[in-house]
Amino acid sequence: MSNDLHLQQATTAVKQSGGVSEASTRADTLFEVDSGASPLVRGIYAHVPFCAHRCHYCDFFTVAGRDDQRPAFVDRMQKDVAATPAWVGGDIETIFVGGGTPTYLAPPDLVRLLRALHDRFVGECSIEFTVEANPETVTREIAEALVTGGVNRVSLGAQSFHPELLHALERRHDPNRVGVALEHLREAGITRTSVDLIFAIPGQDLGQWEDDLARAIDLGTDHLSCYGLVYEPGTPLRGRRDRGEVEPVGDDLEARMYEIARDRLAESGFEQYEISNWARPGHRCRHNLLYWRNENWWPLGPSASGHVEGHRWRNQPRLGEYLEGDGLPAIRDVEYLEEDGRIGEGFMMGLRCLDGLPGTRVEEMLSGEGGERRRPIIAQHVESGLLEWSGDRLRFTTRGLLLANVVIGDLLAPSTPAEG
Ligand code: SF4
Repeated sequence: MSNDLHLQQATTAVKQSGGVSEASTRADTLFEVDSGASPLVRGIYAHVPFCAHRCHYCDFFTVAGRDDQRPAFVDRMQKDVAATPAWVGGDIETIFVGGGTPTYLAPPDLVRLLRALHDRFVGECSIEFTVEANPETVTREIAEALVTGGVNRVSLGAQSFHPELLHALERRHDPNRVGVALEHLREAGITRTSVDLIFAIPGQDLGQWEDDLARAIDLGTDHLSCYGLVYEPGTPLRGRRDRGEVEPVGDDLEARMYEIARDRLAESGFEQYEISNWARPGHRCRHNLLYWRNENWWPLGPSASGHVEGHRWRNQPRLGEYLEGDGLPAIRDVEYLEEDGRIGEGFMMGLRCLDGLPGTRVEEMLSGEGGERRRPIIAQHVESGLLEWSGDRLRFTTRGLLLANVVIGDLLAPSTPAEG
């Protein structure tokens, strides 16, 4: 069951963009944009890969032990920002700086990066400007740097308030630093915060999970993300599990933890709006909604992924190459979804949100190429109680949320067996 709560990026049938050589491609060459019909890009994702230490469950692109390269990295990011095509901007509603640990940059470097993003992408209207942070990095100075840079929202990776569970994750912070970080942020003027928690950590019991939820709620944050631990392929933690050195919690316990999160957070006034995300009214994360609604966003920095008008790509995940480059970085994993893939992905992303999909959108997708064969799949999952029609919207039932990957897998499955 552990995967049922962790929907991954779509793995639908894709094709390489015709005639594109990935080794030398840059993102601007994927599009032919004339000034009258620019794609509407609403979001910016900037990736800062530096961390003080590499946690053994993490499969993000991060680097540890290369702290001396942080100032040069910010110099390079400024060039990346400056090279972004002119048609990106003007309609930006969210900027998200993730990593890695963006707040591991020295305050002056952090300000330089944030101001470059702000000056290029923030116009007259206020936008959601989020930075991810590890609790131990949020000093008074960092909080002030965030405000100087125009940030108005911070997402804190608390993960747990139990030292032994943090140790099991190889996270090094003192749990009390979460509250201290929030205080620094509020004093500096940042009141919009999110806290990340992880459940199903080896050795975790229900009492500890209830306590983690209670302590996160008590901190007064307005947004919580709760993720079940994933044993990602290629991570040291996965290797330890495969060698029998780590025992995952059982499926039933993990499911029970998820149900407890739903109950406790609902009792405390949080609305669940996505499989792993809860918010007080008015505090949903606009940036994440942009991903789940399949809108357009532009990536900056090594390994950052972007999506514009059905084109997906990833900047090369190599720090040295990035630092030596100029202008836009080289890209890889270029994909352009066929209609069948777009429909599968439309269901996957739309159903992640608890509101589900409007009936008109469902009918539109079912009427497209590859849509008809999904009709009986939907009917079958409605019949078995995993999906339901609520008014005019198709959505997961409470039980369906626990088995979301099964339903999504069926809706994503390519229409013909993959070659090879
Ligand atoms: S601090 Fe976060 S991004 Fe960095 S290695 Fe640990 S889990 Fe990954």
